[in-house]
Amino acid sequence: MRVLVIEDDDAIAEPLERGLRHEGFDVTRAALGGDALNLIDSGSTFDVVLLDLGLPDMDGFSVCRQLRERSETPVIVVSARGDEVDRVVGLELGADDYVVKPFGFRELVARIRAVARRSGPERSTEEEARVDLGGGLVIDTRSRRVLRSGEEVPLTRKEFDLLALLAADPGASFTRELILERVWDPHWYGPTKTLDVHVAALRRKLGDPGIVETVRGVGFRLRVHP
Ligand code: CA
Repeated sequence: MRVLVIEDDDAIAEPLERGLRHEGFDVTRAALGGDALNLIDSGSTFDVVLLDLGLPDMDGFSVCRQLRERSETPVIVVSARGDEVDRVVGLELGADDYVVKPFGFRELVARIRAVARRSGPERSTEEEARVDLGGGLVIDTRSRRVLRSGEEVPLTRKEFDLLALLAADPGASFTRELILERVWDPHWYGPTKTLDVHVAALRRKLGDPGIVETVRGVGFRLRVHP
């Protein structure tokens, strides 16, 4: 688990870093708010950010707000200012938790694990929802979007559902009956040509005629990309 510690005071940061490393965390320290934002801007990612509000270069609340604008990483505000106003403002700016100095190390570790746990499943759902179809195509079943080289490909509802069904198990053959049942209706008695029309539209819109393969006499499958 990667933790970014934003703290200007060496007397607090150094033992904290040592303790967190001892607990198995991968710790990065930034002594200034600007340094922390630069790290995020240059592509560093963290699982949890510990943010001291009393920083010499920037107001801690402003750092918190800017962190929020840049990433979803949970932020635990660490502050000597323990009054209720700070607590509320910190949480309103998007901090996930609030620890008041002096804090117990065990308590802090427990809070780090708790916020990481809360945000963890969301992230993994996001990752699971995205399937790389090869050829620059990605389907995101969570946002119901298909991207080709980062550009959204507009699909109808049925076209999307059909692609999502096949993408759930690339390379597996889906029978026409199963596809009609799942994407259309459990009691679909209409012309099965509807399915062929939708497959043709998908191949055309995705700009990749080979992406959906016909399994003769059976149905269709999604091509497995190398
Ligand atoms: Ca400080």
